Amino acid sequence: MPIKILDQKVVSQIAAGEVVERPASVVKELVENSLDAGSTQITVEVKGGGVGLIRVTDNGSGIPAGEAELAFNRYATSKVNSLEDLESISSLGFRGEALPSIAAVAQVDMVTCAAGESAGDFLSLRKSVVVDRRSEGRAQGTTITVRNLFRRIPARLKFLKSPTTENSHIANVVSQYALAFPEVKFTLFIDGRAVLRTPGSGRLIDSVIEVYGPEVARHMVEVKNSDSGWQGGTTTSPPVISGMIGSPTISRSSRDYLSFFVNRRWINSRMLAWAVEEAYHGLLMQGRRPIAIINISIPPSEVDINIHPTKAEVKFQNDRPVFSAIQRAVRATLIDLAPVPKIEEVATAYATPPAPSQELWTSPAEKTSPATSPPVAQQVPMISLPALRVLGQLSSSYIVAEGPDGLYLIDQHAAHERILYEKIKQQRSHQEIEVQGLLEPAPFEVNPKQDEVLKSNYESLSEFGFSIEPFGDRTYLVRGVPALLNNKDWAGMIRELLDSSSRENKGDWTEKIITSLACHGAVRAGQILSDDEIRELVRQLEQSNMAYTCPHGRPTVIHLSSGQLEREFGRS
Ligand code: ADP
Ligand code: MG
Repeated sequence: MPIKILDQKVVSQIAAGEVVERPASVVKELVENSLDAGSTQITVEVKGGGVGLIRVTDNGSGIPAGEAELAFNRYATSKVNSLEDLESISSLGFRGEALPSIAAVAQVDMVTCAAGESAGDFLSLRKSVVVDRRSEGRAQGTTITVRNLFRRIPARLKFLKSPTTENSHIANVVSQYALAFPEVKFTLFIDGRAVLRTPGSGRLIDSVIEVYGPEVARHMVEVKNSDSGWQGGTTTSPPVISGMIGSPTISRSSRDYLSFFVNRRWINSRMLAWAVEEAYHGLLMQGRRPIAIINISIPPSEVDINIHPTKAEVKFQNDRPVFSAIQRAVRATLIDLAPVPKIEEVATAYATPPAPSQELWTSPAEKTSPATSPPVAQQVPMISLPALRVLGQLSSSYIVAEGPDGLYLIDQHAAHERILYEKIKQQRSHQEIEVQGLLEPAPFEVNPKQDEVLKSNYESLSEFGFSIEPFGDRTYLVRGVPALLNNKDWAGMIRELLDSSSRENKGDWTEKIITSLACHGAVRAGQILSDDEIRELVRQLEQSNMAYTCPHGRPTVIHLSSGQLEREFGRS
C-alpha cells in the first residue's frame, strides 16, 4: 500500500482506542470527570457488561450551556490553560480527550445543568457529531449516557471478555474511587441491581465496609504516618502517606487487594506494591499478599501523571522517598499492632546479630530431633565419613585427620561448602533461613542485565534472607542478608548470581542460589582456623551424607588408606 494520510475518522478511533480500552475505561473517565466537577453523589449504571449502556449521573458543577458542545472537541478542557498548569495538576483529568474519545466509539447523550442556569442542556451525539440539542429540566449536575460501545468497531468488541468479567472491571473502578473519595456517595447498579453503595461519610472505614465487607474491615487499621524519619533533603516535601492496611491475620493470594492512589488518583505501581510487601516481610506466609489502601499526597510538581494513555501509571521525580515513606509508615503501623508475636521475632533478629562463630559452626544435628534424622552414617555408609581424629591444619587450607583406616586430607573450603549446602536446604524446607539485618542499609548498583534478572527473581532471593528494595535507577537498597553471609562478600555473591543467570526454570535458579550461598558463606582456603573450629567442621562433615564432594561435585576429602600408605612406603 502506498503511504497516505489516514482519514480523520480513523485517526480519532485509533486515538480513542488508547483511552477507551474496555467498558471500565469509560466508567473510569466519566467518574473522574464527576469527581473533578466536585460532585458529592455519583451514580453509575451499567447494562450488558457496559456495552449496552453506561450511565453516570452526578451532582457536580455541570457544564455551562455555552460550553457543552465544546466539551466533545478533542483537547477541549476546562482544567488546564498553559504548559505551566501541567506542572501542578490537581484534577484527575487534564487532556480533554475522554469525551471526544468516548463519542468516537459509542452513542453519547448528555444532560447537564450548571449553577445559576434555569434549565439543563441536552445533547445527543452519533459518530462524534451532535445530532440533537434541546433544553431539558435538570437539577445542577451532569448525566452522561453511553450506548452501544464499540458497535461500529467489531475488532474491539471481539476482544472484550464476558459481560461478567467486564462488570467486575467496572465494579473495581467504582470501588477504587469509592475508597479514594469516602466523602462521595457512590452507587453502582449492574443490570438493575445495586451492587455497591457507599455512605459518603468521609470516613475511609465506611467505604472499606462496603467495598471489602465488614469482616475485612474489622481487621483494617489506619496507617500511621511516620514522616519523622524523613531524610529526603530540604528541597522536597515529604510524601504524606494515609490510608488503611490489613493486620497480618488477613491476607490474600493475589495483589488485587492492594490499592494505590497518588493525590487520590488511582494508579498501578509494582514499586509501591513492593514497598508494602517489604513492610510485611516475615509476617505473612509465603505467597500471601497484604490488603492495603494507600494514598500518597505529594506536591503535583513531583509526579508526572502524563506518561500513560489512561494515566494508570505515574512517574515520581524521585522514587526513593516515596518507597521508603510507604514502607516506614506501613511498618510502623504493623509494629503498633500488638500483639503480633512475629514482629518481635523479626525485630530482635534485626537488633541483635548472632555471633558469627556460632552461626558458622552450629551443627545442624543439634537443631533436629534424633527421631527425624537418624545418624546419617547408618543410612548411607558408603559416602559418609568415619569418625576422625583431627591432627591439624595444613597450608591454612587443608585439615589433616586420622581415621580407622589411614589418613584423611580435607579441603576446608569445599568441606564447609558441602556442610552449608545441606544446612541451607534443610533450613529452607523448614522456612528457618536466618536473616541478618545490616546496621546501615547498603546501596547496591546493578547493570541493565543484572537489573532484569534481579527484578524477576527478587522473591526467590527474599526466600533466602535477602531484603532488597528498589532505590532509584538501577540501584537497590540492601537491608538484610542471609545470616551466613554476615561479614562476607554478599554483594559479590549477588552479582555473580545475577551474571550467571539466563533463562532458567525456578528449580535451577533455586539450586543456583543455594550453591552460591554455600560457596560464599564457606571458610576460604588460606584462612587459619582454631582447633575448635577445625574439630567442629570435621564433626559436621562426618554427619553429611555426601561428605566426599562439594556441591559443585569437586572432592572434599582425599583418603589414603593404611594399605596405600604401606605400598607408598614400600613396606609391602
Ligand atoms: P478532561 O477531563 O481531560 O478535561 P474530558 O474530555 O473528560 O476532558 O472533559 C472535557 C471537559 O468537559 C472537562 O474539562 C469539563 O470541563 C467538562 N466535563 C466533563 N464531564 C463533566 C462533568 N461530569 N461535570 C462537569 N463538567 C464536565
Ligand atoms: Mg476527563
